[in-house]
Amino acid sequence: MTKCDQCGKGRQFGRYIRHKATGKWALKAPKKPRQWAANVQRKRLVIDGKRQVVNICTRCLRTMHKVERVRKVKEPRVEAEVAAS
Ligand SMILES: [Zn+2]
Repeated sequence: MTKCDQCGKGRQFGRYIRHKATGKWALKAPKKPRQWAANVQRKRLVIDGKRQVVNICTRCLRTMHKVERVRKVKEPRVEAEVAAS
């Protein structure tokens, strides 16, 4: 699954709980693990005067439109691994 290049947000984990109509439903209700997918979009943005294609979550995209100083996006993870090896 795609991660955000800015904050690294990806899949989130949690629990699903189903409501039952009977008494003390909270004790009886089945609790299953579940996942949430981050809303990651592929966007073409101008960062530091350069046009770049980045995978960015909608939360970062929203912040970016509001705050000037967050506009520096880190290097994509794949390129960083290639440079290290
Ligand atoms: Zn993000």
